[in-house]
Amino acid sequence: MTYRAPVSDIAFTLKHSAGLSGALEDGLYGDLTEDVVDAVLEEAGKYASDVIAPLNTVGDKHGTPLKDGVITMPPGWKEAYTGWAQAGWNGLAGSTEWGGQGLPHALNAACIEMWNSASMAFGIGPVLTMGAIEALNNHGTDALKQKYLEKLTTGAWMGTMQLTEPQAGSDVGALRARAERAAGGTYRITGSKIFITYGEHDLTDNIIHFVLARLPDAPPGTRGISLFLVPKFFVNDDGSLGGRNDARCHSIEHKLGIHGSPTCTMVYGDGGGAIGWLIGEENRGLACMFTMMNNARLAVGLQGVAIAERATQQAMAYANDRRQGRADGNGAIINHPDVRRMLLTMRALTRAARAICYATGAAIDRSHRGADEAARKAGNERASLLTPVAKAFSTDIGTEVASLGVQVHGGMGFIEETGAAQHYRDARIAQIYEGTNGIQAIDLVTRKLPMNGGAVVRAYLDELRKTVAAVRATNHPAFGATGARLSDAVDSLNRATAWLLGQLEKSPDAALSGATPYLRLFASAAGGCALAEEALAGIRVDDADAASRVALARFFAENIAVQAGGLETTVTEGADSISDIALPHAAA
Ligand SMILES: Cc1cc2nc3c(=O)[nH]c(=O)nc-3n(C[C@H](O)[C@H](O)[C@H](O)COP(=O)(O)OP(=O)(O)OC[C@H]3O[C@@H](n4cnc5c(N)ncnc54)[C@H](O)[C@@H]3O)c2cc1C
Repeated sequence: MTYRAPVSDIAFTLKHSAGLSGALEDGLYGDLTEDVVDAVLEEAGKYASDVIAPLNTVGDKHGTPLKDGVITMPPGWKEAYTGWAQAGWNGLAGSTEWGGQGLPHALNAACIEMWNSASMAFGIGPVLTMGAIEALNNHGTDALKQKYLEKLTTGAWMGTMQLTEPQAGSDVGALRARAERAAGGTYRITGSKIFITYGEHDLTDNIIHFVLARLPDAPPGTRGISLFLVPKFFVNDDGSLGGRNDARCHSIEHKLGIHGSPTCTMVYGDGGGAIGWLIGEENRGLACMFTMMNNARLAVGLQGVAIAERATQQAMAYANDRRQGRADGNGAIINHPDVRRMLLTMRALTRAARAICYATGAAIDRSHRGADEAARKAGNERASLLTPVAKAFSTDIGTEVASLGVQVHGGMGFIEETGAAQHYRDARIAQIYEGTNGIQAIDLVTRKLPMNGGAVVRAYLDELRKTVAAVRATNHPAFGATGARLSDAVDSLNRATAWLLGQLEKSPDAALSGATPYLRLFASAAGGCALAEEALAGIRVDDADAASRVALARFFAENIAVQAGGLETTVTEGADSISDIALPHAAA
C-alpha cells in the first residue's frame, strides 16, 4: 500500500485551524491567494505520492553504502531529488532574493509533511538544508551569502548541521571539535562529529557543512561555541567548484530505521585541518543555532505527523481488506469495535498533531510578517510556546500510531512485506533527534511557561477556553460531551500550569519530574480544541466533511482528552515517587 497525500484534509487544517484563510484576508501574505495555496498543495501532493513514495521501500532495502569515502544513495533517489529541487520545493519558504519563492512557512510545513509521509529518509535531508539556509541568511556575511545561499536555497547543494560528538549529545556545551584562527580570516577545523545526517551522499555536487567548534581561548560550556561553514568542495569566486576540503565521512551507522538517510561519522583534519568560515560572531554559535531551532524542531514534529498519516492510511486499507471473526457477518476487521478504536485513535492523534504543527508554522509566519512589532513579538512567543509541543507530541504519537498500525495488521504487521513495520522503525528516531522529547518537555516547562511571567501560556489557555465555549454554544447534539470533556481538560492544564510555575522556584526537580506528562497534557487539551475548531469551521463553511469532523472532535474529547485529569495528577503528585525510589548507581 503506497501513500496518497490527503490534500483536502491538509488544506482544511491549514486554512481553518491554523488560520491561513484569515491571515490571507488580513494581508499577512501580500497578494497570495487561496487558489495559489490550493495549487501548491495539489502539486506537492502529486510529487510526494507519485515520485517519492514509491522510493521509500527502495531506500529501506538498499540503504546508503559507503565505499572509499563515497556514499551511493538508493536507486532512483538522485533523479527524484533533482526533480524535486528543480521544481522549487526546497526554496518554497526561502527568500526570493536567493531563488526562493517567499511563500508562508505554514504552507511549507504542509509540504514538509507530505515529503516525509512519502519517505522520512528522503524528507529529513532537505530539513537540514533549510536549517542551514536560515543560519546563513540570518548570521552570515554578505560574501558567504553571495557564494552559498542561492545554491542552498534552490537545493542545488545540500547542507548539514553538525553538533553531536560522542560526549556531547543533549549536552552540546561538552563538544570538543577545535577551530584555530588561520590566514585570510578563515579557521582550521579539527575533530570529529557523529550521527551527521546526509554528511556524505551523491545527490548534489557539493555539501555545505555547518559545524560547531571551539576556539582555543573560548570560555567553557555553551558560551564558548562558534559556528563555521565548511564546504565539502571549495567554491571559486566565479562559482565553480575547486579542490576537496579536509572534511570526510569516516563511517556510517547501521540503524533501526530511515535506512535511506545516511548517518555519518565526520572527521575533520586528517590532512591538517578543514578550512571553515565563521558564521555570526566567535563564541556565539549556539545563538545562531537557536534562530533556526523553531523551524527545525517543527519540521521534525511534522515527520511525526507524516509517518502517522502514512501508517493510518495503510491500516485503514488493510482493515477494510482483511476478513476475520464474526463482526458484520463474515466482514472485514474494520467492523470490530476494538479495531475501530485503534483506527479512530490513529486518525484523531494524527489530525490533532497536524493542527498543532500547522498552528506553529502560522505563528512563525506572524513572527516574521506581523504588521507591527507587537504582532511579530506575539507571533514569536506563540511559536516558541508551541514548538516543543509540536515536536515532542507529534513524534510521540508518530511512534504510537505506527505501532497501532502494526497491531491492526496482526501478524502481517510484524512481517516486513506489508510496510507497516518500516513505518514503526522509521518513526522512532524523530523522538530522539533535534533535541530528545525529554529535552523538549524541559524546554516547555522551564523556558516557555515562564515567558512574560506566564502571560504567554495564559493567553493561550484563554483561547482554548473560547473554543470550549463555542462548542457548548452550538448545542449541537453530534458533539456529545465534547464541550464538557474539553472544558475539564483545559481546567486540568490550567491547574497543572499554575502548579509548575510555582514549583520552578520552590522545587525545580519536582517541576522537571512532571515535564513530560505535562507536555502530553498540554497537547491533549490543545489537540482536542484544535479538532473542535476544525469541526466548528466545518459547520460554519458548510464543508462536505463537517459531520465527520464533528465526530472526530467528539472521539478525541471523549476518548483521549479525558486522560488530561490523570496526567494532571501525575504532574502535581507524581514527583515524590520519582525522587524517593533508589535506582542502582554505577560507581563513580
Ligand atoms: C539517525 C540520527 C541522526 C542524527 N542526525 C544528527 C545531525 O544531523 N546532526 C547532529 O548534530 N546530531 C544528529 N543526531 C544526534 C542527535 O541529535 C542526538 O542523538 C540527540 O540529541 C541525543 O543525544 P545523545 O544521543 O547523546 O543522547 P543523550 O544526550 O545521552 O541522552 C540519553 C537520554 O538521557 C536524556 N537526557 C540527557 N540529558 C538530559 C537532561 N539534561 N535532562 C533530562 N534528560 C536528559 C535524554 O532525553 C535521553 O533520553 C542524530 C542522531 C541519530 C540517531
